Amino acid sequence: MKKIIIIKYGELSTKKDNKNYFISKLKDNIEITLKNINHNTYYDFGRMFVETKDTDEVISHLKNVFGIQGMFIGYTSNKTELEDIKSEVLELLQNKDFNTFKVVTKRSNKNYPINSMDVSRMIGGHILKNIDCKVDVHNPDIVVNIEIRNDEILYYFEEIKGLGGYPVGTLGRGLLMLSGGIDSPVAGYMTIKRGVELYYLYFESRPHTSIEARNKVRELARKLEKYNTNGKLMVVNFTKIQETIYKNLDTTYLITIMRRMMYRIAERVAKKNKCLAIVNGESVGQVASQTLSSMIAVNDVTSYPILRPLCSFDKLDIIEISKKIDTYDISILPYEDCCTVFVPRHPVINPNLKHIYNEESKIDFNTLIDEAVNTIEVVDLKEIKSDLL
Ligand code: ATP
Ligand code: MG
Repeated sequence: MKKIIIIKYGELSTKKDNKNYFISKLKDNIEITLKNINHNTYYDFGRMFVETKDTDEVISHLKNVFGIQGMFIGYTSNKTELEDIKSEVLELLQNKDFNTFKVVTKRSNKNYPINSMDVSRMIGGHILKNIDCKVDVHNPDIVVNIEIRNDEILYYFEEIKGLGGYPVGTLGRGLLMLSGGIDSPVAGYMTIKRGVELYYLYFESRPHTSIEARNKVRELARKLEKYNTNGKLMVVNFTKIQETIYKNLDTTYLITIMRRMMYRIAERVAKKNKCLAIVNGESVGQVASQTLSSMIAVNDVTSYPILRPLCSFDKLDIIEISKKIDTYDISILPYEDCCTVFVPRHPVINPNLKHIYNEESKIDFNTLIDEAVNTIEVVDLKEIKSDLL
């Protein structure tokens, strides 16, 4: 018998005409993920198959690929007689620990002389005769799947859970506003899950923020690259804009106006990089700048789509996901973010748009924004540096 990995597609069952596009993108993404492992991948509309000698390693990589609902380790055999099936099933069940089971047979080879029900019944009887166990059709410990194909039989048992979601890139590209905090990496993960490939944008305020803060963001981006694979981290020099606001404008509006500048810059960068949406880690009510009226005041600068995948999440739920995706320990490192450096004591909760326009008119922000956009630095995400942790 030959081992083979069977991949069950995610939500693609709802896609009709462009199903093929989704599946071939999934295959491309799998090829990128498995590029250093000897393997062969092929697919039909129902499933994808990976042949490899390194089954465990391949499975551990596939567990990070969106668009995969579940996986099975399968075994193919070209011995197709009923007696062969009986002995092979027993051989495969030898090392499995179970008390109850059921047999499910599918027969795509309609010329096979025994129908599926009878195969299940006969194989079930054979298992009962040879192994101390019982049949449970509702909630069995193990399902013995047998597929009778044209020239071979395919066997598989327990399902290994995949991440679900859509293949990365099938829904275009987004620009994630990535800070060093807990929320934005999780927002990024949730967005990649929906098939959106990400570029990352980080606003830094040197010397008020440190190189460690930037490295922290780079490490967070690298964690997300496990799922995203083709991202680019862009760093905005935000110092001049922040200092200008801080020195010249109403400090209770500092955060609101600063975030308006962030959105303006993000929109420019998004358009330039063919990103179809801006993504961030805002969650309604979490801080003063995330009340609904603050969001109106900030969103006022752009008509670009802003995705806020965490808008309704509690912090504890966000933390749970950040631990699962391994960003939490990096996020809680103490290096200051540009928002924390310039926090006013009493930030406005219900900002007034007229007052904002009046404040902003005191400064030529367009020139400052142009300069920030034109001096963006791209940080390498591939190179492994160990100067952070
Ligand atoms: P996080 O935990 O993600 O830092 P937060 O709770 O600290 O979020 P804010 O500081 O209000 O909230 O930021 C809200 C969102 O704005 C962040 O989730 C992130 O998407 C974006 N953001 C904030 N600061 C920066 C920054 N320096 N660079 C890029 N994006 C930022
Ligand atoms: Mg933050």
